Amino acid sequence: MAEGAGEPSASGQIPAGLGISAEKLMGQSKSSAEEFVDFKDLSEPQEGTNKLFLVCFNCKCKVMCPGYGTLVEKERFLPSMTEKYKIGEEPKGDDLKKFWLVKDMFHFENVGFSKTVNGTEQFLICADCEIGPIGWYDIQNKTEIYVAAERVRYATK
Ligand SMILES: [Zn+2]
Repeated sequence: MAEGAGEPSASGQIPAGLGISAEKLMGQSKSSAEEFVDFKDLSEPQEGTNKLFLVCFNCKCKVMCPGYGTLVEKERFLPSMTEKYKIGEEPKGDDLKKFWLVKDMFHFENVGFSKTVNGTEQFLICADCEIGPIGWYDIQNKTEIYVAAERVRYATK
């Protein structure tokens, strides 16, 4: 039965019924404690508005609640994601093809904006950890904000 890991410390017993497993408390349950999914791993096709929370890849804060983004196909190059996104050195990146179109920046829970790029655009970054860009919008058209579907993760709550 015991697998050589030693006895639980004497610091206290977990009362039954709290729903906390010893495994979680000891930090051995890395993948199952939270349910975040990559866009490509979503089981259902994403039709209509987003059904899940959009979540930052890095710090897992909520970028947007369900119901505010419409998935659109659009080809767009964005520089590679970096922490503390800065404009200027952009040799690499991805050609992205799926974006959540958001009509109002007040629909975001948690998003930041870069300085203006190319004179006409701003990139979206995570407001908490500043990783980005996760999307962009044209500063003259604030009712079309695009979030790259593959640059955020998804969660049910
Ligand atoms: Zn973040």
